Amino acid sequence: MSFNNYIGGEWVAAKSGATFERRNPADTRDIVGKYADSGAEDVAAAVAAARAALPMWRKLAPDARAQFLYRAADILARRKDEVASALTREEGKTLMESGGETGRGVVLLRYYAGEGLRIGGDVIPSVNPNALFFTERVPLGVVGLITPWNFPVAIPLWKIAPALVYGNTVILKPSELAPHTAHLLAEVFAEAGLPAGVFNLIQGRGTAGAALSGANGVDGISFTGSAVTGKKVALACVERGAKYQLEMGGKNPVIILPDCDMEQAVTLTVQGAMRSSGEKCTATSRAIVTEEVADEFTARLVEKVKSLKLGPGTDKDAYLGPVITSEAQQKILGYIEKAKSEGAELLCGGGVPTGEEFAQGFYIEPTVFAGVTPQMTIAQEEVFGPLLTVIRVADFDAALTVANDIAYGLSASLFTSNLGNALRFAREIEAGLIRVNGETAGVEPQAPFGGMKGSSSFSREQGQAAKEFFTQIKTIAFEKAG
Ligand code: NAD
Repeated sequence: MSFNNYIGGEWVAAKSGATFERRNPADTRDIVGKYADSGAEDVAAAVAAARAALPMWRKLAPDARAQFLYRAADILARRKDEVASALTREEGKTLMESGGETGRGVVLLRYYAGEGLRIGGDVIPSVNPNALFFTERVPLGVVGLITPWNFPVAIPLWKIAPALVYGNTVILKPSELAPHTAHLLAEVFAEAGLPAGVFNLIQGRGTAGAALSGANGVDGISFTGSAVTGKKVALACVERGAKYQLEMGGKNPVIILPDCDMEQAVTLTVQGAMRSSGEKCTATSRAIVTEEVADEFTARLVEKVKSLKLGPGTDKDAYLGPVITSEAQQKILGYIEKAKSEGAELLCGGGVPTGEEFAQGFYIEPTVFAGVTPQMTIAQEEVFGPLLTVIRVADFDAALTVANDIAYGLSASLFTSNLGNALRFAREIEAGLIRVNGETAGVEPQAPFGGMKGSSSFSREQGQAAKEFFTQIKTIAFEKAG
């Protein structure tokens, strides 16, 4: 089956006629589909459509725009199982996680439909007693959204929903590794009756993303993906004076203190590290454990990790599925070899599972390394796989130093029952998303989301923070005539 771009309300092939193929990472004999392999000329057509639709869309009242989002939410809720199974088929995560992510998409659409009427502004005192001085938020304009494969429903929707409700028109360029869920999202918006050109979908690879970042008629780019690509997007936007927002990788720590609830700490560390095969920007990748409880924590952790079932996402007993591609599998295996050569101690996993059921997919055993020192490669670089490092430290002071000694700053957790420790952690940890007695992954859509340091361009997504990117402020003064 071949699937086209969605431009100006029409389903159209790439102008070159080129397509790319996506296969199921759990079984590469299964072809998910063929998708338009777009180039600069297709991006130009989408920009023209989005610009043409902008004057009408930005003039609509926010509650009129919101009705389209409510309709899209209802359609997505009705098609939830179909979208979730497409997500599992092309991305590999378990059906339970795909269903949860699709449900979150519904929540995001409904949340932002309501936010349209709460956009607000400020009335500002003026030195002129005969003046009314106030601010109003107006749309940014045409926005390009470039998204990764690991949350192919939630991430596009947490950009699309605020972009639309605040009056922007949209061009989505999803990952070439998860094109089908994006296709289904475009179907949802088409069925919701969005006017032609308000939402456009450009399928394709990095070349299409680069063309979108460099397209002059695009007023802003909201990007989520790797740090390497994020830098290219930022440079392209700076070059032509466009607004940009980047959400990138993480190397997220949990700190385990002696006063924690050990069962909770172990369970949530495993969950944060191994669910979605560790392919989350917020995945737990460093367990920093104080000496006093390190033996107990590590033994219980390894026991739990060894009990996890690996299998296709369609297996209801599977805890984690395959990784996304053969290249990702090789990259993770490379990190495992590097860890061994740098002197880390492999406690479990560490290879490709054997057996008929794994032969056609890209599986990696859930892997734990101990004896890891803070400067080892696996303690510094984002692996993006089911791999957890255990780092022993003397005390809480040392734990905080190690946790912060990293280029990233996305999420971080502390396990403790001491309020003083919790407060100190919240104040001193260098991360945008902080949890005490919770896993590093998983933030509610009504709260701001984003990182510090190399994880982000210092902006935030979701919650009310989204309006900072998708709107701009006008400062207005009305003064008395005469
Ligand atoms: P990626 O950077 O390879 O690709 C992301 C998107 O950019 C894709 O749509 C891709 O086609 C496009 N792209 C590639 N080259 C481009 C270029 N030169 N110009 C413009 N666009 C281009 O990332 P990925 O492998 O899809 O995703 C995994 C990464 O995303 C990880 O680093 C992960 O941590 C990060 N991530 C971050 C968050 C967050 O919110 N912080 C969330 C999810 C994933």
